[in-house]
Amino acid sequence: KRQLLQELKGKENVTKSGRKINIYANIGNVSDVASALVNDAGGIGLFRSEFLYLEKETFPTEEEQFQVYKTVAENMAGKKVIIRTLDIGADKQVDYFGLDHEENPAMGYRAIRICLDRPEIFRTQLRALFRASAFGTISIMYPMIISVNEVRQIKEIAEQVRKELTEEGFPFSEVEQGIMIETPAAAMISDLLAKEVDFFSIGTNDLTQYTLAIDRQNAKLDNIYDSHHEAILRLIRLVVENAHKEGIWAGICGELGADTTLTEEFVRMGVDELSVTPTFVLPVRKAVREME
Ligand code: PEP
Ligand code: MG
Repeated sequence: KRQLLQELKGKENVTKSGRKINIYANIGNVSDVASALVNDAGGIGLFRSEFLYLEKETFPTEEEQFQVYKTVAENMAGKKVIIRTLDIGADKQVDYFGLDHEENPAMGYRAIRICLDRPEIFRTQLRALFRASAFGTISIMYPMIISVNEVRQIKEIAEQVRKELTEEGFPFSEVEQGIMIETPAAAMISDLLAKEVDFFSIGTNDLTQYTLAIDRQNAKLDNIYDSHHEAILRLIRLVVENAHKEGIWAGICGELGADTTLTEEFVRMGVDELSVTPTFVLPVRKAVREME
């Protein structure tokens, strides 16, 4: 079986009737890039940037971040690299952020909420990301979005950052900006959000947690934490439809994207991209190639 998967390297992600989709890799640090390449991922669909902040005793500087993003972009040699901005919460404690203890951290002060509340942290990351875009094909993705207003604020800050960098003489490339759809609110207003961004990536881990009201970390509830729940599948279908109505693409970067029992259904829904743990790239490719 292993050999059969190896033989799929270099092959297209195409169904028997000729429909193609992108299969990218999820990574959590620079060394995972090697695994994405060995497994023949078409790009990086989710680079979780949290490690940069978790590893340190103090905020990573613009220069430190720039070097990391640049290295990933260069190693992927022109393939798409989608980097997600800071997704830290009161559950992922980083002392120097000085976050308060919260009763309900999953629903608390986290991710884009911190970035919009403390724009100096956000701007540093955006500067590093735009600067690194000159060295490959970088896209930026924003987590935990619930409203159009948030997206407009983000775009305004990103625009200011680009202006600053231009004035300072830094080169940068076109950067696609997309959002994660991982709250029921974002899924329900995906028609409106699609007018504001370049792509959607569905985060089924959090989307399941918030839709089913089940803490994804509570082992006691594992038996009912069901990403196959019809509510989740309907939301995914809705998001993909709304994306396509506005001419943008939609992918899945939550764990469900690697579930080969659903690959056929995802392709039928029109999902354009699946971003999975590197070792799942070839199994998902196999599932795509075996469907009609
Ligand atoms: C998700 O929520 O599905 C996701 C991909 O993000 P994370 O698992 O990092 O929260
Ligand atoms: Mg998430």
